[in-house]
Amino acid sequence: MSVAIAAQPAPSVGAVSFLDRPARLLIGGEWVQSESGRTISVVDPATGAIVASVADADRTDVDRAVAAAREAFEQGPWPRMLPAERQALIWRLGDLIEQHADELCELESIDNGKTKFMASVVDIPATREYLRYMAGWATKIEGSTFDISVGAPPGSRFETSTRRHPVGVVAQIIPWNFPLLMAAWKLGPALAAGCTCVLKPAEQTPLTALRLGELVMEAGFPPGVVNVLTGYGETAGAALVSHPGVDKVAFTGSGEVGKIINKSATNTLKRVSLELGGKSPVIVLPDADVETVIGGAAQAIFFNAGQVCAAGSRLYAHKKIYDRVVEGVSAAADAIRLGPGLDPETEMGPLVSREQQDRVMGYVDSGREEGAELVTGGESLEHPGCFVKPTVLANVNANMRVVQEEIFGPVLVAQPFDDIDEVAALANATPYGLSASIWSNDLRAVHRLVPKVKAGTVWVNCHSFVDANMPFGGFKQSGFGREHGRTGIEMYTELQSVCMLV
Ligand code: NAP
Ligand code: MG
Repeated sequence: MSVAIAAQPAPSVGAVSFLDRPARLLIGGEWVQSESGRTISVVDPATGAIVASVADADRTDVDRAVAAAREAFEQGPWPRMLPAERQALIWRLGDLIEQHADELCELESIDNGKTKFMASVVDIPATREYLRYMAGWATKIEGSTFDISVGAPPGSRFETSTRRHPVGVVAQIIPWNFPLLMAAWKLGPALAAGCTCVLKPAEQTPLTALRLGELVMEAGFPPGVVNVLTGYGETAGAALVSHPGVDKVAFTGSGEVGKIINKSATNTLKRVSLELGGKSPVIVLPDADVETVIGGAAQAIFFNAGQVCAAGSRLYAHKKIYDRVVEGVSAAADAIRLGPGLDPETEMGPLVSREQQDRVMGYVDSGREEGAELVTGGESLEHPGCFVKPTVLANVNANMRVVQEEIFGPVLVAQPFDDIDEVAALANATPYGLSASIWSNDLRAVHRLVPKVKAGTVWVNCHSFVDANMPFGGFKQSGFGREHGRTGIEMYTELQSVCMLV
């Protein structure tokens, strides 16, 4: 299909100078080549053009990075610094993000395909605020005191307390949908807790993690506290996860890889936290305001071209208003202007890669073959960029692959329902349980429905709102562990009980 796609505007001089830097890894505070010298091409998904090349780390580089992180943890100042000193450095990193916001927005757009505008209102400010929030936690990590009932020797008294220690060297493996923000979600709490880190960005989107590495050094973090390895999951990622020198693995990505990682980490009983995406339902009760729901449901699925782990990818609207909601969301989909991310007129950029475009189109085809009704979209554009039209598939059922599996693209599936118990069962009828939203002003109905939904986050009259202070993570196969807030910090600590006979 041919839709006119504007040309990608040229990046700024600052962004170009970053793109032209040689392919390097950040290990032990130094920018070094990979042992093999191999590189990976970085493609702008809006044009198909190669814009940079980055190092392809392998097992040897992983060994070097883990050794640097281990040395920084065991001998370096980081875990022994005053918490206020760690706080100041993490805060300073947030300041540097702010200072270089425009360049980071451009790099994120060129790398991932998202619009520079979206990066400027979501990704980059959220990254800055996340680091600032986590900076504050460095000075607030605490244990507790309590009494115990050990009665011997007679008349004895105990002083008992808990203390939290940093877990050690952590491997952090992140996806391509919000590259810089995912790096901050991983590094922020780990650094606040006093851990040292080896970060591996996704092969498709390594740029802002490398720029972040430069800013880490500029901020003045001690060498080896943050190491950045670009490379492939099957090589660099797998070597990191199985490395005996790593104490914890934190991963965000697909369920398939999450399962591999969990198995691999078992050999050395590493701590593991997994955020594995979802198939989140948007549940519209009969009293809901249809216009509000249309805007909210469209945003829930089409934000970031649907490449969001919490995307509202399944729409369940009460049969009384189902037709109007589906029609409205489809009209909203039709109105979205596709284009390259650096063009200020663009509302939705390309998907991250040709592979992802093919995967998404494969799902659209499978939905149609299984009997779903294509209401709008369902086409990829004949263009060197990876564009897919926002798509709505109606009258689906729970057995279809498009309803069961995470598509990770701008594809909404819709189905009507009759009563609350029926929609609760439908909402829970996938292996996932990351999030859900309920749209209604009927307080009793909402309160009855929320506890029936098996999801780590339930939004009411909104969707995909995340905050550094609100725990986020999945039920069921959406993973385990909760990022953000106190629980997010505690995932990077070991709890030690101290029992003193006094
Ligand atoms: P993925 O393979 O799970 O990638 C996530 C991260 O894990 C990347 O850094 C990846 O490296 C790395 N990785 C891959 N195999 C590994 C291994 N054996 N050991 C250690 N690390 C490994 O996700 P994807 O292939 O990019 O996307 C596939 C699907 O995953 C999407 O369509 C979507 O459904 C889902 N997804 C979910 C999220 C989420 O936020 N939950 C994010 C992205 C994708 P490479 O970059 O080299 O693969
Ligand atoms: Mg992959």
